[in-house]
Amino acid sequence: MINLPSSSDVLIIGGGATGAGIARDLAMRGASVVLIEKGDFCAGASGSNHGMLHSGARYASSDKESARECAEENDILKRTASAYIEDTGGFFVALPEDEGSFTDSFQSNCRAAGIYTRELAPEEVLREEPLLNPDITRAFEVKDAAVDPFMLVNATIASARAAGAVITNYSKAVSMNLGDEGIESVRIERAGRTCEIKPQLVINAAGAWAGSIAAMAGQNLEVGVDKGTMAVVDGRAANHLINRLRKPADADILVPHRSATIVGTTSSPGDLNRIRPTAEEVENLLREASKTIIGLHSMRTVRAYSGVRPLAGAGGRNASRNFNVTKHENSNMISVVGGKLTTYRLIAQKVADEAAGFLGISSACRTDREELPVLEKFRSKQEVCSCEMVSRDSLIEWSKSDDVTCAADLMRRTRAGMGYCQSGLCAFDIVSCMEGDPVQMLQDFLSERWKGEEAVLYDQQLRQEVFKSHLFKVYNIDHSGGN
Ligand SMILES: Cc1cc2nc3c(=O)[nH]c(=O)nc-3n(C[C@H](O)[C@H](O)[C@H](O)COP(=O)(O)OP(=O)(O)OC[C@H]3O[C@@H](n4cnc5c(N)ncnc54)[C@H](O)[C@@H]3O)c2cc1C
Repeated sequence: MINLPSSSDVLIIGGGATGAGIARDLAMRGASVVLIEKGDFCAGASGSNHGMLHSGARYASSDKESARECAEENDILKRTASAYIEDTGGFFVALPEDEGSFTDSFQSNCRAAGIYTRELAPEEVLREEPLLNPDITRAFEVKDAAVDPFMLVNATIASARAAGAVITNYSKAVSMNLGDEGIESVRIERAGRTCEIKPQLVINAAGAWAGSIAAMAGQNLEVGVDKGTMAVVDGRAANHLINRLRKPADADILVPHRSATIVGTTSSPGDLNRIRPTAEEVENLLREASKTIIGLHSMRTVRAYSGVRPLAGAGGRNASRNFNVTKHENSNMISVVGGKLTTYRLIAQKVADEAAGFLGISSACRTDREELPVLEKFRSKQEVCSCEMVSRDSLIEWSKSDDVTCAADLMRRTRAGMGYCQSGLCAFDIVSCMEGDPVQMLQDFLSERWKGEEAVLYDQQLRQEVFKSHLFKVYNIDHSGGN
C-alpha cells in the first residue's frame, strides 16, 4: 500500500476524472499533491457514464457556454488522449415526430456556438448506418466520439504520478480538524486504519458527494444529484455515435464502444444510497431507442448500469452542464462541482489556476499540449490478430527488420493472418503496422492469401469468403485479386 506523507501543498478528495485531472495539472506545475479516493478510481460518475466525447452539439440549443467548451475540449483530447478515444464521428437524426423548432434551429444554434455540423441527405446516412430507422427526415454530421473513461482517468493518474503526485484509492476522508485559518488536517480511513494529513489547501472534487465534504469543513455547497441509467447491448448497432435530434429526452444517445452499444440515458432525482438500474428503466430505454435503431429491442442486452451526475445547482435533465469552482471564504478549501467528462481537463485547469494563486505557484498549465501516456498494459493488450494472438507491438518490431518488405513477409514471421479468419478481420491492422501505400499493400497481401483459398470454396468456408469479400468491397478492394 502506498505510504501517504504527513503534509502536502494540496490534498485532493475524489479520484474521478475531475480529481485526477487536477492532480495531474498541479503536479506538472510543481506542487506537492496527494489525492485520495474512497473506492477505486472512477467509482463515481466518471465510471458510470455514456463514454461520449461531446462535440458540443447536444448543448448548443440550451447551454452555449458548455457547448463551446465541449467543442474546444473535444479537439484538445483528440490530440492529447487519442489512445483512449475512438473517433467514430456522430450523426444527429430526426424522426417525423421530431420535426419542429428544435430541429429547425439546430444548425444555426451550433454555428452560433462555433460547433461543426454538416447536413446530409437521409439516404446518405442510411447507407453508412443501415440499421437506422429508414423514416428519418433529417440528419447532421457532428464531431462526437467514443471515449474510454476508465483508461482516460487511469492514464491521467499515471501522468500525475510521473510528475510526483501521491495518489491512492480505497482511502476515505472521514473528518477534518478545523482551526482559525480553516482546515488544519484531514483524517483518512484506509484498510481499517486511520491516518492524518496536513495540507495547505484542500480541493473538494468529490462529485455528487461534494456537499458532505464541504460540510466537514463547516461550509455550505449546493450540489444537484441526478440519476441516469444506461443499457449495454451486445454488438455495434451503429458505427457512428447516434443522437436523436430533439429536445433532450430518454434514450436519445447510442454510443458504439468496442464490440457493444451503450444506450441511454434516463434522468431522475438521484439517491446516493441507491444507484441501481431498474428493469422498468431498461425496458423504457430499449423501447424508445428502438425507434431510432430498428430491431435494437431484439439484440441481446448484456447489462445495465446507473450513475449520478454531480450538477452545479439543482438537478434535472435541463440543469446546466456547466461547472462551478468555489473558493470558500475563510477557508483553505476549493470545491468544484459539475461539468462533463469531456471538459474534465478544462475544469482541472481552472481549479489548478485558482489553487496556484492560493499557493503562490507561477507556472502555467501544460495539459492542453502534453499528451497523456499510453498505458503499458493497454499497449501490450492491443492484439492485431486474435486467432493467432499477435500483438501490434510485435508486428511493429518485425516491420523494422530489413528482411520484411511486404505484409506477407510480416505474416510469415509472426503468423498474423494465418489463423481461423485467414486475415479477413486483421488484414487492415497488419498493413497499418507497415510503411508504404496501404491500399496497394492490402491488395498484394490479399492476392497472395487468395492462392490458398480458391480451392476450398464450399460449405462454411464459402460463406466466410463471401463475408470477407463484402468487408473489403467497402474499400474497393477485390480480396481475390481479380481472380
Ligand atoms: C448517466 C450519466 C451519463 C453521462 N454521460 C456523459 C458523457 O457521455 N460524456 C460526458 O462528457 N459526461 C457524461 N456524464 C458526466 C460525467 O460523467 C461527469 O461530469 C464526470 O464524470 C464527473 O467527474 P467527477 O470526478 O467530478 O465526479 P465523480 O466521478 O463522481 O468522482 C467523485 C469521486 O469522489 C469520491 N469520493 C466521494 N466522497 C469521498 C470521500 N469522503 N473520500 C474520498 N473520496 C470520495 C467518489 O468515490 C468518486 O469517485 C455523465 C454522467 C452520468 C451520471
